[in-house]
Amino acid sequence: MVYRWIDNSLKAIRKANWYRSSVEIDGRPGAEIQFEGRRFVNFASNDYLGLAGDDRLVAAAVEATKTYGTGSSGSRLLSGHRPLHRQLERAIAKFKQTEDAVAFSSGYLANLGTIAALVDRRDVIFADAYNHSSLKNGAILSGATVFDYPHNDLDALTAQLQQHRSRYRRGLLLTDSVFSMDGDICQLAELLDLGDRFECMVMVDEAHGTGVFGDRGSGCVESFGCRDRPLIQMGTLSKALGSLGGYVAGSSSLVEFLRNRAPTWIYTTGLSPADTAAALKAIEIVQTEPQRRAKLWDNVSYLKRRLTEILPPDFQLLPSNSPIVCVRVKDAATVLALGNIFRQAGIFVSAVRPPTVPTSRLRITLMATHERHHLDRLIDVFAQLKTPEIQP
Ligand SMILES: *Cc1c(COP(=O)(O)O)cnc(C)c1O
Repeated sequence: MVYRWIDNSLKAIRKANWYRSSVEIDGRPGAEIQFEGRRFVNFASNDYLGLAGDDRLVAAAVEATKTYGTGSSGSRLLSGHRPLHRQLERAIAKFKQTEDAVAFSSGYLANLGTIAALVDRRDVIFADAYNHSSLKNGAILSGATVFDYPHNDLDALTAQLQQHRSRYRRGLLLTDSVFSMDGDICQLAELLDLGDRFECMVMVDEAHGTGVFGDRGSGCVESFGCRDRPLIQMGTLSKALGSLGGYVAGSSSLVEFLRNRAPTWIYTTGLSPADTAAALKAIEIVQTEPQRRAKLWDNVSYLKRRLTEILPPDFQLLPSNSPIVCVRVKDAATVLALGNIFRQAGIFVSAVRPPTVPTSRLRITLMATHERHHLDRLIDVFAQLKTPEIQP
């Protein structure tokens, strides 16, 4: 009886069209994937550079597994530390041009543990309302007072800082660099200025920036020219880097502090040798093959240009400066129906609904390994959409 509420809750979730389930994807990830016995063009992946299925990453992972086994078998401070972990952290620091870096078992854990280590009940966090779930939950876990500012609204943030900052000890500004469900980007230089003015640390989540932005591919901090400013950069090994894991990069003292204070680093098992080696290989490829990034950005401009030309009037292309391109749709039922239309046409796009986002949308992510014909197939389906067909 005490568990009855779970079924009731599930019923309510279904009724609101909020119910989620997974598709089972066969084989390696890539621009085309296979599930339910069919091939689909994949516009729903975070594997921006197409590295997750790359033979070189696979070989690195296999090699590391043969050398070090499948699990690292302990936390990094006890028996779980391997030479590969330190190599990876050095490679991240070099890539990001920071003094040091620390690798976590996921980006989510990096955010939870870092925020919880940096601030507590005496402190204050100012956070963009569209920040990723891991930043939001990290803020809650820390016990600090949290003020969400309206998405990218720095006037509102300034007003909040003026009103509240002085009542707390430490201050922390939290933002995604690329907002994962919209594809627009933060105003990093201005946020850093506000951090200086109001004595706040700034932590930026480069989950969707790393490997994608900047001439060297190291992320938005690089493309904004903010590398030399003191800040806390986090990111994931699981998106453009095609592996699994997260990291924080910054000053040596920050990293040293996190190794002593971040519970999600101290009390969890070290990254597996396979994941570590794959990420290490990916960081090398990102730096030696800028043509992947160039191709990705080519795909972004082509798709955006064509969508602007052909989208029916009741679809709205959300503003984006990244490989995440979203088309706003009026409600959850419509976006699900649309997702199915694309599915039938052999195209896999994400139908994103509340509570993940405030308004329903089709979320399209581009990859360096998409070819023109892949993009044209997506565009053709959009071009043929007629409003009545998509009424659920
Ligand atoms: C995916 C994501 C994370 C979490 O990273 P994982 O390595 O997948 O746990 C954190 N922040 C943002 C903005 C993300 O998109």
